[in-house]
Amino acid sequence: MACVENALIVGGGIGGLAAAIALQNVGIQCTVVEIDMKPVGAGIGFAGRAPQALQALGVYEQACATGKPFTEAMKAPVTRDAAGVPMHAPPLKASFDGSFAPVGVHRPVFAEILLSRARECGAIVRERLSITRIEEMAKGALVTLTNGETSTADCVIGADGIGSVTRALVFPEVPEPEYAGQMSLRWLAPYPPIEPADWYDAGNGGRIAIHNQPVQENIYVPMVITMPERRLSQQDCFEITRDLLDQFTAPAIAELRERLTPDAEIIARPFKWLLVDAPWHRGRTMLIGDAAHATTAHMGMGGGMALEDAVVLADCIAEASNLQAVFDRFMQRRWQRVKTVVETSVAISKLEQACVPDGPERGALMGKGMAALSAPY
Ligand SMILES: Cc1cc2nc3c(=O)[nH]c(=O)nc-3n(C[C@H](O)[C@H](O)[C@H](O)COP(=O)(O)OP(=O)(O)OC[C@H]3O[C@@H](n4cnc5c(N)ncnc54)[C@H](O)[C@@H]3O)c2cc1C
Repeated sequence: MACVENALIVGGGIGGLAAAIALQNVGIQCTVVEIDMKPVGAGIGFAGRAPQALQALGVYEQACATGKPFTEAMKAPVTRDAAGVPMHAPPLKASFDGSFAPVGVHRPVFAEILLSRARECGAIVRERLSITRIEEMAKGALVTLTNGETSTADCVIGADGIGSVTRALVFPEVPEPEYAGQMSLRWLAPYPPIEPADWYDAGNGGRIAIHNQPVQENIYVPMVITMPERRLSQQDCFEITRDLLDQFTAPAIAELRERLTPDAEIIARPFKWLLVDAPWHRGRTMLIGDAAHATTAHMGMGGGMALEDAVVLADCIAEASNLQAVFDRFMQRRWQRVKTVVETSVAISKLEQACVPDGPERGALMGKGMAALSAPY
């Protein structure tokens, strides 16, 4: 018999639903409590070994069908300057033996894919619910839910993202995530597609990319702005986007500028990061995903790491004879890999803020990080 028979997963985002799928697949009955579950976000890319984790979860084909598998050229994206001229030869990406093509997906669609798959696998997903307390009992964790119910679980998985309540309950000493110095703005611009669909660098810490989403018939436009952290209204988002676009003479960005209207829906979020010191478990609770290791998006690997966490945790549960051994093995497999992603991403963010032109320094950081990630998870 497995050393874990059931798990309570807090958070039904990428990591939580992936964990529900992976654990159900090794015979663990999972209940997910999700505080919200409304579809948010724009696009997300899965590269490195994340597509392999999607395959392990049984959702890779669906992700490709609703998203956009990357072509050979897109695997090594070009950055262009404000005039649209390529700034440097992109670093050769590390090769991933037996890997699947990276894929870009529309976030709300991807959330739906994971949710359906988790339910198909037998997970119980309870919405508009969270937790208020976790008590260690002789034979399990006694968890109190926000509706006053209590539930006993062999294992609690905190997958409730960067602002994790599970982390606050179990690791009260961990400091708040740190602002990295940049805001992320994401706009879904209207179709038709714009080419060349690359990253563009304004040279002052402002960057913008074009990702055409043919299935959704829109353009995912992520932007990175170096600025103090503050709450941005819709009007602020419009003005910041307009001012950024106005810095470019590249024809593709000029075309994008034509499509920007004051009512454009733009999502803003500060880039924050946090790396909880190992181990990420205490008692019967384990943190995964952003709850344990939130990063800036400069490697585009945060979601991929959450997927890998889920698959590895299920492997460890299937292999080990007791919970301590599961958690120890999990940390052995996850710590260095995730640390590399967080540290590399924050280092690239710092280069951007110092206005270091996209070139050998960034390429070396990215190349080294990707090479480390080419090892199996
Ligand atoms: C601008 C931007 C771009 C990014 N681009 C990429 C990319 O291209 N590729 C990539 O791999 N990663 C990317 N990331 C990172 C990625 O989004 C995160 O690493 C990933 O979402 C983490 O998954 P998670 O499940 O740990 O957390 P989340 O996806 O944040 O999910 C947490 C879930 O928990 C729920 N929750 C929160 N609090 C509670 C509570 N108290 N009780 C119950 N439920 C709760 C939330 O509603 C949410 O559903 C990007 C991040 C940003 C900010």
